[in-house]
Amino acid sequence: MRKCGVDIVRHAASGPCPSAGMHRITPMRKAAALLAFVPFIALAEPPRIMLVMHGGAGTITRQSMTPETEKQYREMLEQALRTGHVILAKGGSSLDAVEASIRIREDSPLFNAGKGAVFTHEGRNEMDASIMDGKTMKAGSVAGVTIIKNPISAARAVMDKSPHVMMAGHGAELFATQVGLEIVDPSYFWTERRWKELQRELQQEQTAAPLKHFGTVGALALDQAGDLAAGTSTGGTSNKRYGRVGDSPIIGAGTYASNDSVAVSCTGTGEYFIRWTVAHDIAALYQYKGMTVEQAGNEVIFKKLVPVHGDGGAIILDRKGNFAMPFNTEGMYRGWIGGDGVPHVLIYKD
Ligand code: ASP
Repeated sequence: MRKCGVDIVRHAASGPCPSAGMHRITPMRKAAALLAFVPFIALAEPPRIMLVMHGGAGTITRQSMTPETEKQYREMLEQALRTGHVILAKGGSSLDAVEASIRIREDSPLFNAGKGAVFTHEGRNEMDASIMDGKTMKAGSVAGVTIIKNPISAARAVMDKSPHVMMAGHGAELFATQVGLEIVDPSYFWTERRWKELQRELQQEQTAAPLKHFGTVGALALDQAGDLAAGTSTGGTSNKRYGRVGDSPIIGAGTYASNDSVAVSCTGTGEYFIRWTVAHDIAALYQYKGMTVEQAGNEVIFKKLVPVHGDGGAIILDRKGNFAMPFNTEGMYRGWIGGDGVPHVLIYKD
């Protein structure tokens, strides 16, 4: 009977079981047929993978966005989600998914990372990036780089091909050149939009306007092996002074991943995220206090950062695929894609 049940199931896709008409469908047979579905359902279940992303937090409101700009951001975020998903669905590593989904956005002028990086006070583009492997606790980061097309890949190279965790400035650039990463002229990072942004800020400087930051990119992934990874890439804050380094390349501040806890990537005013060691604080609350990803994220992003005016947000992912995306600003570009391959993108608070 069970064999016929299996046959019924197998044939269901191509036509009825040839022998189905020979049997009266009793409740027992019905139950057996249903049971026979179980292994097939299990096989057909999408793999437990997850990719969560942010594209920066800040004063992102509906009023400040034209429908055309909003469409561009949504499309780019969806493309980044799909790119990472293809890797995870094929059984690729969470590290590869994180790096690929960040590279795509580094190549876009929309985000404050790579091509679209903001300018320093002196009119340069100085970028920071980091990546962390939750399985091995290995990490790599670069700070203040000006000629590396994809800083996230330089961070990955520091992790994979050097005995160090962090490299800065000229040394990081030399290393990236030696390992064969793509090097560009600094003018590659010049975009009119960011240049005008800097000019506006230079004019407003007397009013002590806060540092602006929109569009840092981050990604977290859970792969089929159950391993977590996190990465973040940024141009930093617009109008920052020479040599300023934010939280994004600092392991435990802007980025963290551990298979013992969670993966975290942050975005916001780095000076606060460094001092409140935000990424690791969230991971510690999850690991040692038993908080959920949501509780741990809210505790830090709202209860700790809001009273001190530390604006920004974080994305958090655990090994079960639970994730949270808290932010205390008006908006945060964010999204996720799971085993079903359907990308979800959100921008505003509501
Ligand atoms: N956290 C980044 C920094 O301070 C900026 C950002 O996330 O927008 O460099």
